[in-house]
Amino acid sequence: MRVLLVTPPMIQLNTPYPATAYLAGFLRLHAAELGITVTQADTSIALFLRLFSAPLVTRMARELRERACTLRRTAKMPPSIAHFLAHAERYADTVESVIRYLQRRDPTLAFRIISRAWLPEGPRFAQTHHEQIQSAFGHLGTTEQARYLASLYVDDLADVWRDGIDPRFELAKYGERLASSVPTFDPLQDALTGEPTLVDESLDDITRELMAAQQPDVVAISAPFPGNVYGAFRMARTIRLVAPRTRLVLGGGWVNTELRSLREPRVFDYFDYVTLDDGERPLLNLLSRLQGRESPLVRTFVREKDAIVFKTDPTQHDFPAKDTGIPTYDGLPLGDYVSIMEMLNPMHRFWSDGRWNKITLAHGCYWKKCTFCDVSLDYIGRYDKPSTDIILQRIRALIDETGETGFHLVDEAAPPAGMKALAKRLIEEKLSITWWGNIRFEKTFTPELCQLLAEAGCIAVSGGLEVASNRLLDLMKKGVTVEQVARVTRAFTDAGILVHAYLMYGFPTETEQDTVDALERVRQLFAAGCIQSAYWHRFAATAHSPIGLHPEKFGITLQPPPDITFAHNDVAFHDPTGTDHDYLGAGLRKALYNYMHGIGLEADVREWFEPRPAGDARHRRRGGRRRAGLGVPATTVPPDLIERSLA
Ligand code: SF4
Repeated sequence: MRVLLVTPPMIQLNTPYPATAYLAGFLRLHAAELGITVTQADTSIALFLRLFSAPLVTRMARELRERACTLRRTAKMPPSIAHFLAHAERYADTVESVIRYLQRRDPTLAFRIISRAWLPEGPRFAQTHHEQIQSAFGHLGTTEQARYLASLYVDDLADVWRDGIDPRFELAKYGERLASSVPTFDPLQDALTGEPTLVDESLDDITRELMAAQQPDVVAISAPFPGNVYGAFRMARTIRLVAPRTRLVLGGGWVNTELRSLREPRVFDYFDYVTLDDGERPLLNLLSRLQGRESPLVRTFVREKDAIVFKTDPTQHDFPAKDTGIPTYDGLPLGDYVSIMEMLNPMHRFWSDGRWNKITLAHGCYWKKCTFCDVSLDYIGRYDKPSTDIILQRIRALIDETGETGFHLVDEAAPPAGMKALAKRLIEEKLSITWWGNIRFEKTFTPELCQLLAEAGCIAVSGGLEVASNRLLDLMKKGVTVEQVARVTRAFTDAGILVHAYLMYGFPTETEQDTVDALERVRQLFAAGCIQSAYWHRFAATAHSPIGLHPEKFGITLQPPPDITFAHNDVAFHDPTGTDHDYLGAGLRKALYNYMHGIGLEADVREWFEPRPAGDARHRRRGGRRRAGLGVPATTVPPDLIERSLA
């Protein structure tokens, strides 16, 4: 029996998402006993390469020209399309060379790219000034400068695909809104049965080609995020047409969080089985059953007549992390991935630049207390750490397979003791790797430990500072304080390890003053060199978090849910605090973008927020505390808070 594991579009383009690599490694351990062969495919990178090819760029230009008259007549021609149509031939002539360059295949092309006379430069280039580029790359940083310019070129073309051909398309997500906490299947069904766009047709072609080449008996599609779901269903639709006897399975991170209360029979027009949580046990049992053995289904939805039935067997256990095998990228086109760098920030690029092998120190989170997090779900709540010997064995195997020594630890929060043990062994065994990962900023990370991690090849960490307010960190049960985060992040920075902070706004009971004060603390952390990069997430109450389960403890009320038959994750809520988080979010993002470029670190944080209209109720209510023309109150945080914490 041939089994094909698939990552559907769209997702990161610089390296394969690890789910199929983990499952392929596990299933190959059991291939002989099951009588199966296992292969894997990434149709996300395949779709990207198809769309960013000369023939498809030419087809896009033709299609847009046919529609251009209408667009001009209605004055609806976006700048991205206008610029593209004016230079379409040049885009078609250059696109494949640029992609090869981003695949690190043609390094001397850098000189041509940085000449600034070869590539058409669309609206995305307008945000970048010559001085910024000079200060970021100097005179000799040709390779990186060219990567940055080539990335802007790709962004311009992606905007044209989105604005002109398919509004659901983005570089790292496709049709995300059709799947993110959408209570009914209707929008997805409408999109799947509607008129196909050129993006849809390209994915349909890729799916047909894949099926013809691999002829699988079972296709298991993993949808980690909402931005993969439309692609997953679209592929399933095509597979049903070209290979109706092929069994189709859906699983992955999005399914695990959003489809737990699935009641929609139409999902099973596309898939035969939908599995929850770690895929190893459910897939193993399912494949064994499809081979005619008596294996019970585990955490698997099926359709029986018109009813959705959840089948599981409590006697069947998940495999411990030590027994899940060695991930393998075998079958994936490792040379095809593109390294994109869209921001002039040294840390921010790690998520899109570089072909990182993915490895996990432990399953789940050792802390599992944060009140906004899905701690009730298996992927966070079940902590299981294999030995350092096993981690090293996996690292060595991945280096042998890929020839690459870059590793991304994709733990929810890597355990400090595990990192320390790994670092010691890497040093003892003179195994030279470059690695980065997600942590909690806890005080175990002393300057000595940070130094050890740096010596062992750790180059960057990311962690949650969330709302930089001790009152709210306490309410979140984050287990850290702002002062502690300052000391820990500074220890990392002093050891030469870059630090990215996940920030949050809009938490229950968060006032405007809390947000302004949090921004001031973030400003001081940047100014003191504690963090180099950050990102603001808007808080969302999720169904499986302590806040979603016990909203009354956090002073909010959940809005009555609609009749949910399909996806369920984010829950709408009412916070009587009444803060205008939409307004504040714009200022927060603007401030952070500038801080990451080293700009505006001395400015009063109020400067980042647009003035409110004079008639705004909030302006009148608290107007006495504002300087004229400023939209928010002054910070109450002492200007040397972070410096004092560090002292
Ligand atoms: S937010 Fe991070 S540290 Fe907190 S419980 Fe979740 S995974 Fe663990």
